[in-house]
Amino acid sequence: MPSTTISREPLSSETDSTPAIDVAIIGGGIAGAWALNLLQKRGYNCILLESSSLGADQTLASQGMIHGGLKYALSGVLTGASEAIADMPRRWRACLNGDDDVDLRGTRLLSEHYYMFAEATTLGRLTTFFASRALRGRIDRIKPEQWPEEFIGFEGVVYQLNDFVMDTEHLLRTLVADHQDRVLQLHADATNISPHADGGYEIVFADKTVHASILVSCAGNGSSQLQQALGITNLPVQQRPLKQVIVKPKHQVMMFAHCLTGIASDEPRLTITSHAEADGVSWYLGGQLADKGVELSDEEQLAKARAELNTCVPWLDWQDAQFGILTVNRAEPKQASGIKPDEAYVVRQQDFIQCFPTKLTLAPDLGDKLLNVLDKPEHPKPLQTNHPRAEIGISPW
Ligand SMILES: Cc1cc2nc3c(=O)[nH]c(=O)nc-3n(C[C@H](O)[C@H](O)[C@H](O)COP(=O)(O)OP(=O)(O)OC[C@H]3O[C@@H](n4cnc5c(N)ncnc54)[C@H](O)[C@@H]3O)c2cc1C
Repeated sequence: MPSTTISREPLSSETDSTPAIDVAIIGGGIAGAWALNLLQKRGYNCILLESSSLGADQTLASQGMIHGGLKYALSGVLTGASEAIADMPRRWRACLNGDDDVDLRGTRLLSEHYYMFAEATTLGRLTTFFASRALRGRIDRIKPEQWPEEFIGFEGVVYQLNDFVMDTEHLLRTLVADHQDRVLQLHADATNISPHADGGYEIVFADKTVHASILVSCAGNGSSQLQQALGITNLPVQQRPLKQVIVKPKHQVMMFAHCLTGIASDEPRLTITSHAEADGVSWYLGGQLADKGVELSDEEQLAKARAELNTCVPWLDWQDAQFGILTVNRAEPKQASGIKPDEAYVVRQQDFIQCFPTKLTLAPDLGDKLLNVLDKPEHPKPLQTNHPRAEIGISPW
């Protein structure tokens, strides 16, 4: 991965009217919020700039699963994609226990467990693969008497994975809790950010101009536009759309599971997470349904979702459920033939760093890679500004 590390003397132009900081992070999804938390812990003086609200695009729309990549191994072989992230559940658990630089103690989980289920006859050779030594500790078939209650009435097989599900809104809240004065609302573009002749970037706020030694783009779907505004080239981005479905059933059962019943490709047929809100439970559906759904009209996608639930989860009642659609793009570094990237992406070009976690799960990997390309911190004085702060966004269900 191309990267350069440049050391530089502190700017002689630093004055009280142009204060200097180490890092300006652009974009307040998981990547930006994680970077802020980690870099502050490591002694960098940072700010985070967010156009709208924290998590507003992909992060709050995500299913929040912290997974070890097993869903990428449904062809029956362990691939690069499945193995790059195998260690991530352990890394996150260390953060949740306070044993990592990013301290997530007290952050809410939506579910401690994640499951996979299928009608027994449809798994074929995957049954042997799931039981293999290579997957020990990552997936366990559980007996019906150990099934959680949402599977009562199901006839088939249920596996428990070593994955779990984060409450992404609460996660963002935890990450920025100690840094709220550093989280500023600004749509970064050519009108307020420009390269400085001596290196780094100048950022214009309502009440002052600030010099940042390094700009870190965590701007997700805004990355191409930002790069264009700053004259950065050669860091192409790909977008992969998803048509997620939100269901509000009459029953109030919650589920966190992949459905593999009858899968004909190596992607879960349905990826299910659930949310308990004031107006009742919502099911949030991804997987093949959302991937393939982009080829359907909204009406067709809603009908497909209803049919999929009736086929895959027939023991629950979907009769009076309400259905809605959320279309959202995943933003990633461009890959040959548009395939999924399998690790976090951090590339530095002079004083600009482009980051994509590519998955929520890979935030710790992104943090490691970012620390590897940064120079030492050299501007400890916190920025004082009256510029408006950015708030946490609202989840889509
Ligand atoms: C439907 C869906 C489900 C998913 N489920 C999972 C899952 O279960 N597990 C998993 O591991 N991964 C999942 N992912 C992937 C994961 O959510 C994303 O990889 C991750 O959230 C990307 O985070 P980010 O911080 O890079 O981007 P974002 O969360 O999109 O944040 C980018 C931020 O930058 C801001 N911004 C953009 N341009 C500018 C600008 N010029 N100035 C200031 N701010 C700007 C935006 O407003 C936005 O808040 C899912 C993705 C989707 C879409």
